[in-house]
Amino acid sequence: MKISDRLKSESPCFSFEFFPPKSDAGVQLLFETLRELQPLDPGFVSVTYGAGGSTRQRTLELVTAIKKETGIEAMAHLTCVGHSRQELVALVDRFADAGIENLLALRGDVPPGGLPSVDDGLAHGSELTALIRERRPQMCIGGACYPEGHLESETRDSDLRNLRKKVAAGSDFLVTQLFFDNAFYFHFVERARALGIHAPVLPGIMPITNFEQIDRFTRMCGATIPTRLRLELERRKDDPEAILELGVAHATLQCAELLRMGAPGIHFYTLNRSRASRMICSALKSAGF
Ligand code: FAD
Repeated sequence: MKISDRLKSESPCFSFEFFPPKSDAGVQLLFETLRELQPLDPGFVSVTYGAGGSTRQRTLELVTAIKKETGIEAMAHLTCVGHSRQELVALVDRFADAGIENLLALRGDVPPGGLPSVDDGLAHGSELTALIRERRPQMCIGGACYPEGHLESETRDSDLRNLRKKVAAGSDFLVTQLFFDNAFYFHFVERARALGIHAPVLPGIMPITNFEQIDRFTRMCGATIPTRLRLELERRKDDPEAILELGVAHATLQCAELLRMGAPGIHFYTLNRSRASRMICSALKSAGF
């Protein structure tokens, strides 16, 4: 099923993001996690694509296996850094020929060790979106967006103008970078609509389960932890269970407000663990969302 069709439904679309595990044992664990999520009727799950490295091939294998073995719709992420145009065309064909109907088209980031240089590569997510749209017009294409602005952007406005190019190139829907203050999402959607960007915007939520990890992630992606939340996290930083309780409670409040205010669903960054997102999703469902 195309995610763009699922997003037209009245009921919120709950989706869950995973990364390809490095080992077979990790893959087995991932399938256990998926079985735990199944009763929550996920709208889709997505599998990330590593910028270089051995797990790239696993993205295709995993999305295909998830669709086949669990019946859950699965979207593959695809990044263009380090790939030539020709390689990307071949990859898009492989995903489409394997029955994948949804791709998240991304630029990706060059990993610290660098990537082999390519002569005819693509520079932006919008160029990959255009390539997929031209090669496989039926594909449902998602794109990434940044309520607090992408780290490399000079201003949030210039980032938004670049996002408009991505949507014009063919994005059917957008998924946001993680954020902890809903005001960023609401302002972002308002500014996007004013600029003529009308694609549905799925908010990306990462329940905090580990203090050091979230500190690292937010520094890497430029997301802000609101001061009051940071203070509460710091008070609990030596108590992992208390961090999880606070992380789940904060994310549940965030999600309830987002849905009440009209967000089309929630995309959970799971880090391959489902406990926190299951707790949040269960609470949302029992609250009637
Ligand atoms: P782009 O849309 O190309 O934007 C990158 C920067 O370039 C922005 O500052 C933008 O304003 C600017 N820009 C865009 N177009 C133009 C233009 N025409 N001219 C000048 N400047 C322009 N990374 C992975 O490696 N694998 C994954 O699976 C993955 N999944 C992700 C999923 C989500 C939901 C999100 C939000 C991010 C994900 N990322 C992933 C991270 C992502 O690759 C990085 O955030 C990357 O830095 C930007 O990717 P993009 O597709 O948004 O880039």
